[in-house]
Amino acid sequence: MITVNARAAFSPEGPFKPTTIERRDLQPHDVLIEIKYAGICHSDIHTARGEWGPVQYPLVPGHEIAGIVVKIGSEVTKYAVGDRVGVGCMVDSCRECANCRQGEEQYCLNGNTGTYAAIDRYGQYTQGGYSTHIVVTEDFVVRIPDGIELDVAAPLLCAGITTYSPLRHWGAAPGKKVAIVGFGGLGHMAVKLAHAMGAEVTVLSQTLSKKEDGLRLGADRYYATNDAETFKKLAGSFDLIINTVSAKIDINAYLSLLRLEGTLVNVGAPSEPLDVNVFSLIGHRRSFAGSMIGGIRETQEMLDFCAENRIAPEIEVVSADQIDEAWERVLASDVRYRFVIDISTMEK
Ligand code: NAP
Ligand code: ZN
Ligand code: ZN
Repeated sequence: MITVNARAAFSPEGPFKPTTIERRDLQPHDVLIEIKYAGICHSDIHTARGEWGPVQYPLVPGHEIAGIVVKIGSEVTKYAVGDRVGVGCMVDSCRECANCRQGEEQYCLNGNTGTYAAIDRYGQYTQGGYSTHIVVTEDFVVRIPDGIELDVAAPLLCAGITTYSPLRHWGAAPGKKVAIVGFGGLGHMAVKLAHAMGAEVTVLSQTLSKKEDGLRLGADRYYATNDAETFKKLAGSFDLIINTVSAKIDINAYLSLLRLEGTLVNVGAPSEPLDVNVFSLIGHRRSFAGSMIGGIRETQEMLDFCAENRIAPEIEVVSADQIDEAWERVLASDVRYRFVIDISTMEK
């Protein structure tokens, strides 16, 4: 076992405290990664606070991991010491079921192994990226292209892939009108990616307070959802809507903005159910869908797409002592647009 420094929540209320955790000894296909940066995803908060069900404490969250390979197992072929790599929301899956074989490991029929708060194939409770090192099998590690700095690479491993995958799957492209609901960590990545894919992009945010940023980052239009006029003006206008909101919203109001055969994809994961009125769907043959992160192959594709198109998240780097404060700001929708922990501040 390798003992490494980490920051953990010891109860749903927090706060974060320094601790040490154990990483397994390197198996033949494992790589040891020295983590340089870890993004703060709203899912970390939902999970650690028990909003998605009970979890075990201490819990080390973090599934937006960017770092350097510092050691490799005896049979590793994909990575070498010194490589710049990333790890996202999962660290393993069965690799044998139909979905895994299709490269959709996130939908593993036997359940993928979450980067934290899961039991891995060795029977160990997984702990995430708010720590100095992690051991991961090479098949669940991705390569960070040279053009992307490690601090901005981190959020791509969840916020990036979670928005890239549905935009690709539902065909965001020139001639398509795409709306992004919620302009936070996922939302701002969705805007950049949809714009780079050539779609016409509209942001639907609670207020106009971030409008300038939205237009600067690639949106063509920006509307406030606290203004009822927005829903009248935009009725029936979008091919695709990606909802990134972390809380319960009136989903029927947003479904009414879809044109004939349009799709609203929920990636936001509030603990409360959303109440869909079937008449919001049947009137215009609309679809209400969901999407979860992306497979490993698609995550690599997304990173390469970001490098080619010079896309990176807008980040605010924080120290390990500022995690609680950053979480409060995420909960207050006061994030511009992703907090990233500088893991070097953890080693003292
Ligand atoms: P975030 O940075 O907090 O962004 C969420 C945004 O939603 C906020 O910035 C805010 O945007 C809007 N919002 C928040 N509360 C709201 C409310 N009560 N009413 C209306 N709008 C509200 O969070 P994130 O990290 O992007 O994550 C967003 C959600 O996606 C979370 O639920 C997370 O768990 C989930 N998620 C899912 C996946 C997946 O695989 N499906 C992956 C990652 C994350 P405005 O200020 O612009 O209104
Ligand atoms: Zn996430
Ligand atoms: Zn599987």
